[in-house]
Amino acid sequence: MLATLPAQTENPYQIALQNFEMAADALELDESIRLLVRYPERILTVTVPVRMDDGSVRCFEGYRVQHSTARGPAKGGIRYHPGVTLDEVKALATWMTWKCAVVNIPFGGGKGGVTCDPKAMSQNEIERLTRRYTTAILPIIGPGQDIPAPDVYTNPQIMAWIMDTYSMTRGYLIPGVVTGKPLSLGGSLGRNEATGRGVFHSIESACQHLKIPVKGAKVVVQGFGNAGSVAAHLLDGAQADVIAVSDSRGAIYNADGLHIPKLMSHKERTGTVAGFPSSEPISPADLLALECDILVPSALENTIHGENAAGVRAKIIAEAANGPLTPEADRILAGKGVFVIPDILCNAGGVTVSYFEWVQNEQHLRWDLQDVNRRLEAVMATAFNEVLELHLERKVTMRTAANMLGIQRVVEATRVRGLYP
Ligand code: NAD
Repeated sequence: MLATLPAQTENPYQIALQNFEMAADALELDESIRLLVRYPERILTVTVPVRMDDGSVRCFEGYRVQHSTARGPAKGGIRYHPGVTLDEVKALATWMTWKCAVVNIPFGGGKGGVTCDPKAMSQNEIERLTRRYTTAILPIIGPGQDIPAPDVYTNPQIMAWIMDTYSMTRGYLIPGVVTGKPLSLGGSLGRNEATGRGVFHSIESACQHLKIPVKGAKVVVQGFGNAGSVAAHLLDGAQADVIAVSDSRGAIYNADGLHIPKLMSHKERTGTVAGFPSSEPISPADLLALECDILVPSALENTIHGENAAGVRAKIIAEAANGPLTPEADRILAGKGVFVIPDILCNAGGVTVSYFEWVQNEQHLRWDLQDVNRRLEAVMATAFNEVLELHLERKVTMRTAANMLGIQRVVEATRVRGLYP
C-alpha cells in the first residue's frame, strides 16, 4: 500500500493517507473496505465574493469537505488562514473522522476553510465573508448533516454569524447547526476551554503511565491560542512549570516558569506573547529544542519535521494541534523514545464538548459546567486507556494505535450499513 504513496511528504493529505495505510495494514483490512472509508465522501469548493470596506470586491476560495458520515453527521471546524488549501482541509476532515471514532461520539468527520488573512480584515469584512461562505455551503450543512465549529482564526462570534445566516434562510432558530457558539446563543459551558482541557487530561494520563509527576514538570507550548493557552493555564494550575511559549509573532522563555495568568492578560492586551515582562525572547526554532518534559505543539501542521525532530529534547509530545508532526518526525522521535500523544486523541476534547453542545441544543437542555467537565474527563480517560492498551498490546506507536481504534470503529459501522445501492 505505502509503495503507491510518496515515501515522505509534507502535504497534510498525503500524511493523512500514509497514516491511514499504516493503521489499515496493522488491522489487516482488505482493499475493498479501505476504498469505502479512505476518501472524502463529498468535497465542495466555493467562490466567496466579499465587498470590502473601501468599496472594492475581492473573491476568496472556500471549501467544505465531508470525509465520512458513516457513524453520524460530519463534524469539524472552519479555518480562516492564508495557508488554507483543499488538501489541508481534506486532511483535517479525514483526521476528524478517526478522532470522533476514537472518543466514540456519534459523528463523522468534516472540515471547512477559507483562504484569507483575517488579521488583515475588519470585523465587518469578516462578517460579510462568513455570511457569504455560509450561504455557499448551506446546502450541505445542518444539525443532522454537517456541523461546523471554530478552528484556527475562527471564534464564537463567527459561529454566531454562521448560525444566524443558516437560521434566517430556514426561517427559524437552529442552534444545532454549529457548535462553539456564544453561551447566549446555546453554546455549551466549557466548550471554549474544552480542547485545552482535553489536552491537559491526556497529559495527566501520559504522565501517570510514564511515572512523570505533573507537578514540577517543565512544559513548552508552541502556539498560544485557544488550545495552547488553556492547556498551559491548566498545567500551570497543576504546578507544572511552563518555561516557554510562542505565537505567530514571537517566542518567550523563562527557566523558572512563566506566570501564565499574567501572560494571558498580556496576550489579550497586546495581541501577542512577545514582550511579556519577566521573560526573554528566544527564536521559534530554539523553543522546539528546549530540554523539557512536555512539549505541546498547538499551532499548525508540520511544525516538527525531518529537519528539526532530532533536536527535540522532550519526553512527551502532546499534539494539541492537528498534524504538527510529519511521518519523518514520527520515525525520528520514536527512535529517541519520545512518547507522542497523537492529535486525534490529544485534542479530541474540543469535538467531545461540541458533541455535548449539540446534544444540549437538540434536547433544549443546559448542563452545568461541572457536568460538562466531568463527562469530558471520563471520555478522555476512556479513549486514552483504549489507545494505550492497543499501543502496548500490538507494539505500535500511539498514533498508529489511535488510528487503528478510530478506523476500526468506522469500518464496523460501514460494514454493517452495507454498500448502497
Ligand atoms: P487559535 O487561532 O486560537 O490559535 C492559534 C495560535 O497559533 C495563535 O496563538 C497563533 O498566533 C499561533 N501560531 C500561528 N502560527 C504560528 C507559528 N508559526 N508559530 C507559533 N505559533 C503560531 O487556534 P486554535 O483553535 O488554538 O487551533 C490551534 C491548533 O489546534 C490547530 O491545529 C487546530 O486545528 C487545533 N485544534 C483546535 C481545536 C479547537 O477547538 N479550537 C480543536 C482541535 C484541534
